[in-house]
Amino acid sequence: MVITGGSRGIGQAVAEAFYKAGDNVTILDREVASERGPGTGERYMTVQADVTSSADVDRAFEVAEERFGPVEVLVANAGVVRDKLIIRMSDEDFAATRDVNLTGSFYCVRRAAKSMVRRKSGAVILLGSVVASIGGSGQANYSASKAALVGLARSVARELGPRGITANVIAPGFIQTDMTAALPEAVREQYLSQIPAGRFGTVEDVAGAALFLAGARYVSGAILPVDGALGMGH
Ligand code: NDP
Repeated sequence: MVITGGSRGIGQAVAEAFYKAGDNVTILDREVASERGPGTGERYMTVQADVTSSADVDRAFEVAEERFGPVEVLVANAGVVRDKLIIRMSDEDFAATRDVNLTGSFYCVRRAAKSMVRRKSGAVILLGSVVASIGGSGQANYSASKAALVGLARSVARELGPRGITANVIAPGFIQTDMTAALPEAVREQYLSQIPAGRFGTVEDVAGAALFLAGARYVSGAILPVDGALGMGH
């Protein structure tokens, strides 16, 4: 499997889960120096790639395929936030978020599809967000980029379904990582009060969903919420 942004947070937990399940794991990250792999080297590696560069992505997939063979599972996890109220949101804030979250995912899906079509099987898993469905104040750029992933996944499900390839979106709610640790305490408390499960999610909650989708061969074009019912199924 190939995962982007796997050196920390949700990506790291997903990489570990697949590694423990016996998969070969290639992590694509901006910095190889930040490598904190899921195991002891035999079945995983980190390859430097900024997902906003299609050349980086293509080269990294070549490295992955050379070592581990055709890619069967892609988890497009790399993502960024640049929260601002819309009247203060710059062109750059919008473009930077779109470039990583949407365009970067597209580059990875396009390249992974080549491997998967050859294998006649594959699972594409995109990291969306609950705010794609319920909106997020100060998150116009982020919510829009995550909502677009639904259209991407569903188009892949339609186009490549006949080739044995599934494509789904995981929509996490509030998961405890660096990304959410950066939020002000008041915002965290407000989210918590709205989560029926009464707790924030863990990275392992999301990793379990990714493992499930990789193996669920008749689940495609779906959005799988991992949000303690924050979005009530949306
Ligand atoms: P983190 O901020 O903890 O980690 C993000 C990862 O993405 C890092 O490894 C980062 O690398 C990598 N990354 C960022 N930009 C690039 C890039 N241009 N090229 C390659 N890698 C890049 O995020 P989370 O673990 O919290 O989130 C993971 C995914 O889940 C994201 O897509 C996020 O939007 C989504 N999500 C998270 C939620 C949450 O509550 N945490 C809720 C809903 C969705 P580096 O270390 O170099 O910065």
